[in-house]
Amino acid sequence: MSSKTKTGALQKPSGSNMPRADLLPRIAAIIGAKNLVTQAADMVAYLNEPRDLFHGKALCVARPGSTAEVAALVALCAETGTKIVPQGGNTGLVGGQTPSERGDEIVLSLTRMNRLREVDASSNTLIVEAGMTLAQVQAEADRAERYFPLSLASEGSCTIGGNLATNAGGTAVLAYGNARDLTLGLEVVLADGRILSDLSKLRKDNTGYDLKNLFIGSEGTLGIITAAVLKLYPKPRAIETVFVGLRDPHQAVRLLDLAHDMTGGEVKTFELIPRVGIDFVLTHGEGLRDPLPSAHAQYVLLELASQSDGLAGRLLALLEKAMEKEIIEDAAIAASLDQRKAFWCLREFLPDAQGREGGSIKHDVSVPISDVPAFLEEVEAAVTQRLPGARLVAFGHLGDGNIHCNVSQPKDADKAGFLALWDEINEIVHRIVIAHHGSISAEHGIGRLKRELLPKVKDSVALDLMRTLKATLDPQGIFNPGKVV
Ligand code: ZN
Repeated sequence: MSSKTKTGALQKPSGSNMPRADLLPRIAAIIGAKNLVTQAADMVAYLNEPRDLFHGKALCVARPGSTAEVAALVALCAETGTKIVPQGGNTGLVGGQTPSERGDEIVLSLTRMNRLREVDASSNTLIVEAGMTLAQVQAEADRAERYFPLSLASEGSCTIGGNLATNAGGTAVLAYGNARDLTLGLEVVLADGRILSDLSKLRKDNTGYDLKNLFIGSEGTLGIITAAVLKLYPKPRAIETVFVGLRDPHQAVRLLDLAHDMTGGEVKTFELIPRVGIDFVLTHGEGLRDPLPSAHAQYVLLELASQSDGLAGRLLALLEKAMEKEIIEDAAIAASLDQRKAFWCLREFLPDAQGREGGSIKHDVSVPISDVPAFLEEVEAAVTQRLPGARLVAFGHLGDGNIHCNVSQPKDADKAGFLALWDEINEIVHRIVIAHHGSISAEHGIGRLKRELLPKVKDSVALDLMRTLKATLDPQGIFNPGKVV
């Protein structure tokens, strides 16, 4: 990173979008000079994303403290034609939060806007600002004797605004839905600086178009989410966690069917992990143990949550029935909180462990649940035909049909040589996804990483409509340029 002064950034040629020399002082006047970051060393944390795929540049990082400040900032950017990259915890996996390399955009960080605005236990709602971390949202719900179910690996640092902008998923979607399903209302700053104040707590409101759902999942390209009304749920009274060993993904889908059938809405988590994933985790992790006495080709981390008594009995009955039908080979029920944590460690450490095993070409895809077994067989055959020895590490949210279908390099292969196949392997996997009527981005979004892919896989009428909405809501194209559409 070169040391670039504030003046240096302004003198950098950037064509017709050259910012006016008084832009930074005017931003400082809105948000306070101490909340304007211009020194290169201080901006580093905002310009690089966690997978190290994109390294951006920016005029500055602006850290407003209120919705009024965001609105004033956007109005200024609209007036001067300055482009804005909204950012939460900077944990996104597709470069949606990273500015371009041109250096003519500003990063608008929402992290100072982290206040709790209201708790309404009877309405089961929480109103929070966009910069609150997901972990803090969960804690506020807990304090109100309620439960906010959105849960994902980066919850300690990702923000609820980022979760909404990307319609985040995670490990409890099966029971509670994704970020979109957990939101009743939004406050959004529009591209002309107006504030859409739709902080509705209503479960029923049929007064026209569902505007909030335009902004949820739009990855900051249509407006800047500044606050949200979130749905709360009763705290589960009982949780049961079990690690199951089975033959293949076909049996995993049978187990999911049986679990739904025997427990109703109590299946909270249903994660598939192949043996190769367990091997990676045990090789690279410390203090982790094989969950079952002998090895199995596939595993499921299954969690049930319930409001009523007798959950342990229902889990036992489910496992007995699954054993009797020869769906599962073995199972271990977590007998303590520590054991539950140990089971979750095996799942949560997997992406990390895969990184330590060498190059990994990643896919975040979904197909109909019933198609998952055939999909995985076809992917494994096609990938290993292209590259013998490549190791398919397909794991994740089978209960939602969402598989992190990652391909690890062959043992002892050259990492750079393997990663050079990124596009080719992507194409192989995505072709099979499309053949199964699936999605090439189930929960991480499009961002920069998949923007070029989108026209190849998205229905052309749908894509047209997306571009029409973008042009209508952001006619100058100031919000998150070069992302999604
Ligand atoms: Zn995931």
